[in-house]
Amino acid sequence: MSIKVCKFGGTSMADAAAINNVASIVLSDPARKYVVVSAPGKRDKNDVKVTDLLYACHKEAVETGTCAKTFAKVKERFIGICKDLGLSIDIESVLDRTQQEIDQNTETPDFAASRGEYLSGVVMAARLGYAFIDAADIIRFDVSGNLSVDYTNDRASAKLGAVECAVVPGFYGKGANGKVKTFSRGGSDITGSIVARAVKADVYENWTDVSGCLVADPRIVDNPKGIKILSYKELRELSYMGASVLHADAIFPVRRARIPINIRNTFAPDDDGTMIVPSEMYNHDGNSIITGIAGKKNFTVIFIEKSMMNSEIGFARKVLSVMESHGIPMEHMPSGIDTLSVVVDGNLVKGDVLDAVCTEIQELVQPDFMRVMTNISLVATVGHGMARKAGISARLFSALAREQINIQLIDQGSSELNIIVGVADSDYEKCIRAIYREFAE
Ligand code: ASP
Repeated sequence: MSIKVCKFGGTSMADAAAINNVASIVLSDPARKYVVVSAPGKRDKNDVKVTDLLYACHKEAVETGTCAKTFAKVKERFIGICKDLGLSIDIESVLDRTQQEIDQNTETPDFAASRGEYLSGVVMAARLGYAFIDAADIIRFDVSGNLSVDYTNDRASAKLGAVECAVVPGFYGKGANGKVKTFSRGGSDITGSIVARAVKADVYENWTDVSGCLVADPRIVDNPKGIKILSYKELRELSYMGASVLHADAIFPVRRARIPINIRNTFAPDDDGTMIVPSEMYNHDGNSIITGIAGKKNFTVIFIEKSMMNSEIGFARKVLSVMESHGIPMEHMPSGIDTLSVVVDGNLVKGDVLDAVCTEIQELVQPDFMRVMTNISLVATVGHGMARKAGISARLFSALAREQINIQLIDQGSSELNIIVGVADSDYEKCIRAIYREFAE
């Protein structure tokens, strides 16, 4: 019998109707034995996520000694949900106890923030008739705040293996000091991935409010096509560039166990969604050359030229040491025979910092020529399909030339999975549309 782990995001848990919908999805397939839930999200554009209310509760408890005022809104929401679901659990007592615990646990916001998932989990377990397994009992962090990977996996396997079906709240675990600790925002995706690995699931279904990943950002390209299948590596390249479907850390547990992720839409459960699979399971159909296009604006590029750079030992190290001493991460470093470009986040390198960086590079490596380009967008065209076809770069560059887009930088990493071009921020949208038209339409 196959095992599926399903994670439902905040919109899927927003109210009783959505929760009933989730329950019917889960119960329609006996393989869906383990369910991970987020806190209730927004019901409409102007609504507030329960997690945001809980961060406000923590602040209020720190400032006034009790979170009573803001917690009343959380209470109202969960009481309403339980009433509409017709559940007989004594949610009021659970809520009263939670309020007291938040008032007593104010050292960090984590305890308060985690309670949305906790309460969501209690409600979902009651609705499904599944066991409730608290995430604090199975997920551990070490003293540095990183996930204790093996401990967590062993503990989660043992606890979850002992029950037939279970609901686990997302987003949190227990820190080395024994207190509740959360992942970063959106972290329920990671919990789902941890649970999937622990129970050796056949698939990790991540249910959200869109039918999977799209080839390009729908705010830029009208009605972009959906991506049916992509590899973990492609997802990593696309999400680095800002295409957000999953929390970036959610890939690791399932990737280790080679479990595919299926992104599904709670509000269109018949859609197949997107499958994210290990590269060797990725059977490219040969039709689509590219898998996705993503990009980010506002990079700064420091272009350095010096003849015989290639024979100067330690040249790149010296340049990077300047970045390091200013605490600036290097995003990319395309290089030629006598040229080197350092691409950095434009928000981190501006004004005096930029001047200091340039002066220090000048002094340290004495380049023949140096130029700074600001407001550069990077656009990544990603796909395993590109590796086996000649002339892809030529088509990409011609498509941009036809639109009079000046390419300021090219970076085709060694993976052949990705071609990155740098263009002016003002050409960003035009660039993405041109690439989409050339390869995906
Ligand atoms: N509820 C948390 C958040 O809003 C975690 C999650 O939904 O994954 O970030």
